[in-house]
Amino acid sequence: MNGKHVFGARYYPDKTVFTLWAPYSVSVMLQLYSTGSEEEGGTMLSCTRMERGPESLFTLTVPGDLHGVYYNFQLTFENGRQTISADPWATACGVNGARSMVVDLRRTDPEGWEWDRHLPAADFAPVVWETHVCDFSLDPACGVRPEWRGKYLGFTEPEPHLRGSRKRPVGLRYLKELGVTHIQLQPIADYFTVDERTGKGYNWGYDIENYNVPEGSYSTDPFHGEVRIRECKQMIQAIHQAGLRVVLDVVYNHTYHKDSWLHRTAPGQYYRHAPDGSFMNASGCGTETASERWPFRNYMIQSVLYWAREYHVDGFRFDLMAIHDAETMNLLRAELDKLPGGEDILLYGEPWAGGQVALAYPSVPANREALREMDSRIGIFSDNTRNMLVGESFRIDECGYASGKTPLWMERHVQSMLCGWCRTDLEHFAKAPSQIVHYVSCHDNFTLWDRLVASTGSRDFDAANSLALRRNRLASALVLLSLGISFFQSGEEFCRTKHGNGNTYNGPARENRLAWQSTVLHEDLVSWYRGLIRIRRELYPAVSRAAAEELYFQDAPEMCVAFTSRCRAGSPWEEIYVAVNPGWDTARLDLPGGTWQIICDGEDSALDTKETRTVSGRLEAAPVSVLVLAKKDGCER
Ligand code: CA
Repeated sequence: MNGKHVFGARYYPDKTVFTLWAPYSVSVMLQLYSTGSEEEGGTMLSCTRMERGPESLFTLTVPGDLHGVYYNFQLTFENGRQTISADPWATACGVNGARSMVVDLRRTDPEGWEWDRHLPAADFAPVVWETHVCDFSLDPACGVRPEWRGKYLGFTEPEPHLRGSRKRPVGLRYLKELGVTHIQLQPIADYFTVDERTGKGYNWGYDIENYNVPEGSYSTDPFHGEVRIRECKQMIQAIHQAGLRVVLDVVYNHTYHKDSWLHRTAPGQYYRHAPDGSFMNASGCGTETASERWPFRNYMIQSVLYWAREYHVDGFRFDLMAIHDAETMNLLRAELDKLPGGEDILLYGEPWAGGQVALAYPSVPANREALREMDSRIGIFSDNTRNMLVGESFRIDECGYASGKTPLWMERHVQSMLCGWCRTDLEHFAKAPSQIVHYVSCHDNFTLWDRLVASTGSRDFDAANSLALRRNRLASALVLLSLGISFFQSGEEFCRTKHGNGNTYNGPARENRLAWQSTVLHEDLVSWYRGLIRIRRELYPAVSRAAAEELYFQDAPEMCVAFTSRCRAGSPWEEIYVAVNPGWDTARLDLPGGTWQIICDGEDSALDTKETRTVSGRLEAAPVSVLVLAKKDGCER
C-alpha cells in the first residue's frame, strides 16, 4: 500500500466508519464500550466482525451517534494468536489511553475556536521559549487557581499576577512583555508514565502511547475523552490570544515499548528491524521507527498534519530527528506548506540520534550533513553554537567562549555563528540561517545558570554569582544576536536552577517547576533578555540568507568580535554596532565614523529608553561584556 491515508474512526452524526490496516490478521472484531477503562465498570455494547477488504483494510460502519463511545480491536492472526489493541489512529481515548474513543471533534471546540488560527510568522526572526505544561504553572506563586496548576488550563488563567504583588505579570502576560515569539511545549501527546487516574508522578513525556491524543494527566478530567481535547485547545487559544505561537515537541523516532498499538495491529511494519527480526536501537529506547518506509512515513506525516489542522499548532520540534530520513522531512515540509498559511509553520529538530542509525542507501538520516539536501526551512539545533559558547553538555564545569575559554580560532567561529553558519567566506554547513536553531540551554542537561556558576570555579558565593551573571548576559546576547532561530529554556532569563541536577525527566516536580518569584529576584537579567530581543527585532526582520551577507565585521582586539549591520526599514535606528569582549581585560575598540548612541552598555540593554549617552572615536568594552550602539537616521556619518 502507498499514498496518503488516514485510518481510525470517522465520525458522522448518524454513523461512524471504522477502518484498520491489519496485515497478517484473518479476522478483526470491533468492540464498543460505554466507558474508557475496565476499572470504571460499564459494559461492552457490542462486538462485531469487521469486513476485510483489499490490502488488509478492515472496515465497519456502525449506525447512530457514537460520540463518547469507547472502542478496541480484537485481532486474530494466521497462526491463531489473538490480541486486543486500541486504535493507533485514535484521536480520543479513555483514562490511561488503552481504549480509544469516537469523538465529534466539533463538540470539543472551545468558544471562539472557529476564529482561532495558527498565527502568521512574527515580524522578526523567531525567539523560542521552551517549557513543559506542568512546569509552567505548578508553582503556587504563579497566580493560577489551584485546580488548574500543572494543567492545560494553567495557561488560561485571566490576568495572572505573582502572589503578593498585583503589579507583577506572570505566565503569558509575562512572556508577551518579554517579547518571545514562540512557546515550545515538551511533548503533550498522550504518554505512559504518569497514572492519569491519580495524576501522581511527573514526567517529561517522551514515552508516547497515543500520538494523536493529548495527554490526560494535564486535563482536569482524564476519564472523559473529550475534556483533554477541549482543554488542550483552550491552552492553544489562550497562547494565540496573547500573540504567541505554539511549537510542539514531537517524538516519532521511537515508541515507549515494542508492544505499541502500531506493532499490535501490523507487526513488523512500522519499525526498523535487524535481519534476525530484533528491533534496531538508534533511539536508545529499543524501538526505532522506520520513516523511510511507507507505513510509518504516512503515519508520521498524517499525524503532524492532524495537529497542525485540528489544534492550529504553529511549529514542530522533532526529537532525535536524525533517526528519520531526510526525504520524509522534506515531504513533511511540503505537506505543511500546502496548509493555509502553512509556510509560516516552523519545523526543526535534533540533528542527532542516540546510536547508529541503520538507514540503507539511498536514504540518509536528517542530520547536520543532510542540511544541503533538506529544505532550507527545516532547522537543526546547533550543538556548534552551544558547545562553542558554553562547552560540551555533559560536564557541568565545561567552558566556552562566553564562559572563559577563548582560544584565538574562536573569533572566526563566533563570526560564523552570528551569520547563521551559512556564509561561505566563514565556517559554514547550512544553506541559510533558517536551518539553524541557536541555543545554550534546553530541557536536557544542566540549566545554564547551574553550569555557569560551576564553571567559575569559585567557592566565594558573591564572586561566583557576579561572574556567572556577566557570562549569562554574554551567552544570551550572542544567541539573540545570531541570525537564525534563537531558543532558550524557560527560566534561563531568571537564573533557573535545578541545583546541579542534569537530568530531571521523571521529577521531582518541584525541581522542574518554574519559580516565578525569580522573575522579581532577577529582574535585571529578565530586562536584559527583553532588551536584547528588542534589538534583535530591529536587526533581523526575517531569517534571510541575504541578512547574513549584511553583517560587516569590524576590526577588534584579540578574542573580541565587532560588527555593524543596518536596521530594518521603519526602525528608530539606522545602523547598529555590536562589540563582544569575552576576556578578562578591558578592550579598546575603534568605532566606525560618526556619533553613536549607547543602547546596551553590557549591563543594561535598554539604556536608550532612560538616557541619551553618545560616543564617537574610541570605545572601551568592560571585561566579559557586550555593547550595542546605534546610529540614528540623519546622524553625522
Ligand atoms: Ca497518558
